[in-house]
Parts: sequence; structure tokens; C-alpha cells
Amino acid sequence: MSFQSLGLSEALLKAVSKKGYTTPSPIQQKAIPPVLEGKDVLASAQTGTGKTAGFTLPLLHILSENPKEKFRPIRALILTPTRELAAQVYANVKEYSEFLNLRSAVIFGGVNQKPQAATIRQGIDVLVATPGRLLDLENQGLLSLKRVEIFVLDEADRMLDMGFLRDIERVIKMMPEKRQNLMFSATFSKDIKKLAHGILNHPVQVEATPENTTVDAISQKVYRVAKGLKTDLIIKLISDGNWKQVLVFARTKHGANKLCEKMGKAGIKAAAIHGNKSQGARTKALSGFKSGSVSVLVATDIAARGLDIPLLPHVINFELPNIPEDYVHRIGRTGRAGASGEALSLVSADETTFLRDIEKLIEMKLPVEILEGFEPDPNASTAPIKQGQGRQNRNSRNSNSSNSSNRNSGGNNKSRRPKRTNDRRS
Ligand code: AMP
Repeated sequence: MSFQSLGLSEALLKAVSKKGYTTPSPIQQKAIPPVLEGKDVLASAQTGTGKTAGFTLPLLHILSENPKEKFRPIRALILTPTRELAAQVYANVKEYSEFLNLRSAVIFGGVNQKPQAATIRQGIDVLVATPGRLLDLENQGLLSLKRVEIFVLDEADRMLDMGFLRDIERVIKMMPEKRQNLMFSATFSKDIKKLAHGILNHPVQVEATPENTTVDAISQKVYRVAKGLKTDLIIKLISDGNWKQVLVFARTKHGANKLCEKMGKAGIKAAAIHGNKSQGARTKALSGFKSGSVSVLVATDIAARGLDIPLLPHVINFELPNIPEDYVHRIGRTGRAGASGEALSLVSADETTFLRDIEKLIEMKLPVEILEGFEPDPNASTAPIKQGQGRQNRNSRNSNSSNSSNRNSGGNNKSRRPKRTNDRRS
């Protein structure tokens, strides 16, 4: 399929070809036609799938077909959870609209509002915004959403994770009832479905797996281990393997910090990336990881979403996620062009239910390995861990890693592409 066959205007095709895109990504192929038809769309897609162009290109097409050059009320609103994403989406809007007579702006908090308000006053067609600053400026009468024709809610799941539900509801009340709505989310929890139900009108549902379709080629393995031995085990795996680029997922911010600290003491260059870290600290951690001065990035799910990092050779789940789809997103970070990646999970007794749920979703049993000296605790409860209780057991005992040997090697099976659950489709 080509971009031409999607029915986009010449000006947009020119911008797309200037970007060097030759073929629309799967989410673009699926989302662009219904958006162009004026339908509401509910899309399951995460960063890396080309989702931004998936909504931006048809949105610009629709606006440019019916220009309002004199007055320029805000006709399209793209709401994003973070400043970084807002800036990124805005950059895309600018690039794709280069050959169109459309104006756009971006607004987010943490910076002076005056220049943002001044740009809006001059008239813009497309506004990219984070909820807080948008509501601020609206409350001050510095912008109006009364003429919005197209509303895009980007990374809706992250919006909810960040507590923006009330803000979204407020924003919706400021727009006309008759409008086109597009909602993008990487996961589909009950709350997301409820939100979608409230916003979207008979939506067309589309979905795409990440662009790195190497999920097929990812070796997955579970290490059954006592909770208190996880830190020692992960240090051993990374040190023995001399791994240089590892993305580790921790359940909590506190857990991520503690793990980093312990890795640092063991001589592993690690940095944490999560919501409590300042923007500066996050950027520094990420650039260190990209340049190689940091070998291990320890992230929480929320922080990892939207992270612009290339595919990695190793992803380790220090703790399993309690949402099975998050497992698929996490391991989708591994694999390199042509080569396969490795996804390891350290699983303690209280994560047994999570493991079962993941295996059900991906429709395969994950091979299990137990390393000598890192055995699971036979007396530990298999009652599932509650959310927010993912902290490490401090009674970690030292183990003699040199004694370790494979006891029950299940081998590195290749996974099949995870089949979607109904949960994702609905
Ligand atoms: P996104 O998921 O929107 O963050 O996009 C991920 C990356 O893919 C960005 O760097 C885009 O510039 C790029 N991209 C988007 N669409 C295409 C395409 N059709 N062909 C190649 N790259 C693309």
C-alpha cells in the first residue's frame, strides 16, 4: 500500500516523502481511511508504531479541505499527557503541514504562558496541548475550544495513569458536542474503555503491534527466584553476561531507585527513569544510556512508555507487570534488526498469578530456569502482590554466584506473536 492510495492531498504526500517515508505503517493504513471519512476512531497503538502521523495526516487533510483562513479558530485539539510528547507531536504537525496553509501551536506548563497566549491570539488551526496549561489558558479567556471540529486524545492510558481524568472531562465540556474524536491508547483497561465510551461515537476500532515486529523472534525466559534474592540474581546475570545495554522494568519508583543504588555498588552503571525524576535527570539518564556511559536503565512502565530508545538486546522484568499487555509492550523493546533479543523475567512466588495471566495472553508457557543459590522460597505465599507493594524484600541473603549452575534449563524458546485478547479489541 502507498500513501497515495490512502487519498491524502498532494501537499501532504510531499511532506511525507520529504520525511523519507515510503510506505504507511500498519496503524496508518488502518487509521487514516476512517479518519478521512470523518469517523470516530479508537486505536490501540503505542509509540513507535507511527501513530502520530496516523492521526495528524488525515486531520490536516480534513482541515485544509475547508480552510478558515480569516479568523482561524482552534479547529483541532490534540491532547497529550506530557510536555515531551506535546513537543514531539507538535514537531510532527509542523513538518506534515509544511506545504499547507494551516497554523499550529503547542502549549504546556512549566514555561512562561505569555508567548503561548500570543501565538494563539494570532489565530491557529491546530493546537497541541497538555491538560493543565490548556485549562489554565481557557479559564483566563485566552483561548476558546468552542469551534473544535476534531479532538485527539493521545496516549489515553498514560493520561489516566497520571490522574488527568477530571481534566479531560473538563476539556470535553468546553468543546462543541458535534465533533470528530480520535483516541489512541497502548492498553485497554476497564477505565480506558469507560473513557472511550464517554467520548467516542460509534468508533471504528483499529490496532497495531509495535513497528518492531521482532516480538516473534524474542527469546523469553523466566527465572524462578526467592523475592529477597532478585537483586543478587539480576546483578549476577548482567555482570556474568557483561551486558552493556539493558532495560530493566521495576514495579515502583522506590524499587527502581533501590535497584539502581545496589547495582551501582556492584559496579554496574545504572540509572533510574520514572515519574519522580526531574526532566533534566530523565534526559541525562537517557542520553547516558544511548551514549553507553550508562549500561542499565531501570524504568517503571509509565516512564518507559514514550521513551525514544532503539531496540535493545536485553530486557529484564525485575518484577512482572500485573497488566499482562504491559509484558508484551515491555518485551517489544528488545530485538534488533534481523537479530533476536532476549527478555528475562525474575519471578517470585507472589507473582505466580501474573505469570499465568501473561502466559494466557501470549498463548505459550514460558521456559523456566532456576539457578543454584537463587532458588525460590518454598515457603513463600503465592498470593498475588498488590499494586504499590512491589518493594524488594530486604532480607536478601548473599549468594555464592560462582556456584551457580543451570538446574532446570527450559532453553530459550522463540515466542509466537502474542494473540490479542478481547480486552484489546473492545
Ligand atoms: P510515532 O509512533 O508516531 O512516535 O512514530 C515513530 C517513528 O516512526 C517516528 O520517528 C516517525 O517519524 C516514524 N514514522 C512514522 N511513520 C512512518 C512511516 N510510514 N515510515 C517510516 N517511518 C515512519
